[in-house]
Amino acid sequence: MAEHESLEFGKADFVLLDNVSLEEFMANLKLRFEKGRIYTYIGEVVVSVNPYRAMNIYGRDTIEQYKGRELYERPPHLFAIADAAYKAMKRRNKDTCIVISGESGAGKTEASKYIMQYIAAITNPSQRAEVERVKNMLLKSNCVLEAFGNAKTNRNDNSSRFGKYMDINFDFKGDPIGGHINNYLLEKSRVIFQQEGERSFHSFYQLVKGAPDAQLRSLHIQRDPTAYTYIKVGGQIKVLYHVQIKRDYYGWQGSRDLWCRHGTAWFVELTENSKLVSILGDLLSTKDENVEKALLYRTVATGRDVIDKQHTHQEASYGRDALAKAIYERLFCWIVGRINDIIEVKNYDVRVHGKNTVIGVLDIYGFEIFQNNSFEQFCINYCNEKLQQLFIQLVLKQEQEEYQREGIPWKHIDYFNNQIIVDLVEQQHKGIFAVLDEACMNVGKVTDEMFLQALNGKLAKHAHYTSRKLSPTDKNLEFDRDFRIRHYAGDVAYSVVGFIDKNKDTLFQDFKRLLYNSSNPVLKAMWPEGKLSITEVTKRPLTAATLFKNSMISLVENLASKEPYYVRCIKPNEVKSPLLFEHERCKHQVEYLGLLENVRVRRAGFANRQIYPRFLQRYKMISEFTWPNHDLPSDKEAVKRLLQGCGFEHDVAYGKTKVFIRTPRTIFSLEEQRAEM
Ligand code: ATP
Ligand code: MG
Repeated sequence: MAEHESLEFGKADFVLLDNVSLEEFMANLKLRFEKGRIYTYIGEVVVSVNPYRAMNIYGRDTIEQYKGRELYERPPHLFAIADAAYKAMKRRNKDTCIVISGESGAGKTEASKYIMQYIAAITNPSQRAEVERVKNMLLKSNCVLEAFGNAKTNRNDNSSRFGKYMDINFDFKGDPIGGHINNYLLEKSRVIFQQEGERSFHSFYQLVKGAPDAQLRSLHIQRDPTAYTYIKVGGQIKVLYHVQIKRDYYGWQGSRDLWCRHGTAWFVELTENSKLVSILGDLLSTKDENVEKALLYRTVATGRDVIDKQHTHQEASYGRDALAKAIYERLFCWIVGRINDIIEVKNYDVRVHGKNTVIGVLDIYGFEIFQNNSFEQFCINYCNEKLQQLFIQLVLKQEQEEYQREGIPWKHIDYFNNQIIVDLVEQQHKGIFAVLDEACMNVGKVTDEMFLQALNGKLAKHAHYTSRKLSPTDKNLEFDRDFRIRHYAGDVAYSVVGFIDKNKDTLFQDFKRLLYNSSNPVLKAMWPEGKLSITEVTKRPLTAATLFKNSMISLVENLASKEPYYVRCIKPNEVKSPLLFEHERCKHQVEYLGLLENVRVRRAGFANRQIYPRFLQRYKMISEFTWPNHDLPSDKEAVKRLLQGCGFEHDVAYGKTKVFIRTPRTIFSLEEQRAEM
């Protein structure tokens, strides 16, 4: 609890509210936002409200104020949480993770960058060159990934269109020695289509606007982005923001090269126009006639014969778009792979250097609702359900279960458990992903409408699912097109159009062969499946939904195996204004994030707990009753006597196997007494 902060800024920790009610919570949040205090604690959770303006609170001097301090010694800040995660990692040899959640535009990516900057700033005091190199790479990788993986949406000018989990590895001294990035489902449909008011990925505009003439010429690209259908469909070419990242991007050595070598195929609108075909042949380092053939024909094996079947116009367009999306997606994964090659831990010998520990930082796409929501929003929102479930498990559920187990008097605090929605999406055989996969397995032609019918059949009774067929009076849902999910964060209507195609994610084998046979070794290496000949039977690849589900499940497992720290981001308004605190919007977020329940659990709860023998081991020297040994009937009795002697009786509770300590201050004071011995 940051006590030295004046009360005119409101309560620095929601736990200190006089009454835990939504009204008081909101009043405190608003007051702090208006006073420029964008961070507030709930115990060790940071609640952050996007200020939508530059704040002078991330500089070197602020970093110094937080370095090595305890949470409650300074006003709430991301740096304090970063420091807590770092200390836990260093002192207790624990792997920790920082999970940043909140809806699109709430400030997750910015928060993750400040956290990384903080960790970089406080480590490597002896300026070891190798560590400096690693830190630099970790920080700079952000610019490249943002250029290729972020875009302007109608929610956020710099919206993450991929999920990112970054591990930072530390040596026994607590200095970063490497890292690893996992990326999750890039929204590649953006390469060919954007909703009105949106843009494709920043990288395209940076290239067209920023690359030198000679380079553009060598790539056969015009300076004018409106010349390219793929990147002008959303109609928003200009975003002020991208000037900034353009500078960053071009500052990164080597990244220009990316475009020269593989970056441009999708700029060229593929038609039967022979000039464009030859440009594409040139850029992909393949023969023109092969490009043309792959675009217009499909080679199929019928029995022992191999024939070339000409595409219909529709098939050819589909193939072209799938190619553009696939190249971009593989390029993106290739970039992540290259970054990982550079930052991975090298020459670390556990026997010499001790255990190498990890801090993970998760920054993923936030919950989103658009005018038109499709497969991508469905995946993104499912991902947010998973993270909310993790929060519930770690912060609300386990905590309460432990009190019960230990026999600590405890009044159960109710919260909405979103597991029911997670199940609705991911459950085997019955969940929406399973129904979708089943539809995609069908040999005959299955349409999106048939998929919707199957959902209606299976989920008619589910409290969180509906559609026009099930709610005939609901005019906001189209009959053959929409279903609606009641998410933890709000209702979202999804259009099924494209679900089947996007889930199957078919790229004709002909394209894979084409690119595998490119004379450019990097391109070739991105398409290993192209090696198979036409007659070789290929296994059906896993669907996009299954791949995503599996990656989410393993992400959550990974996070749950670490000591978690939470940043809960709130978006104060829809218009990116630094002044506006839209009460209803904020209240809605506070509610669905479960923040009030978090305060209640925390307030009734205990900051610290230890089993009796370990507690004694650590503090027995501060009491005459326990030093050097005690003659009481049990360790529990001894701990009681010790704490009574110190005057902390009011701040503790005794469970069956553990002592529970309410405020961190008590622990701090015990530590001080121990140090004085
Ligand atoms: P998405 O889920 O769409 O990726 P996000 O939660 O990552 O959204 P950010 O990109 O971090 O959102 O934030 C959106 C914008 O809000 C930023 O581009 C920036 O303009 C502003 N912003 C966020 N946090 C801060 C901050 N701490 N200080 C100043 N501006 C901020
Ligand atoms: Mg983001």
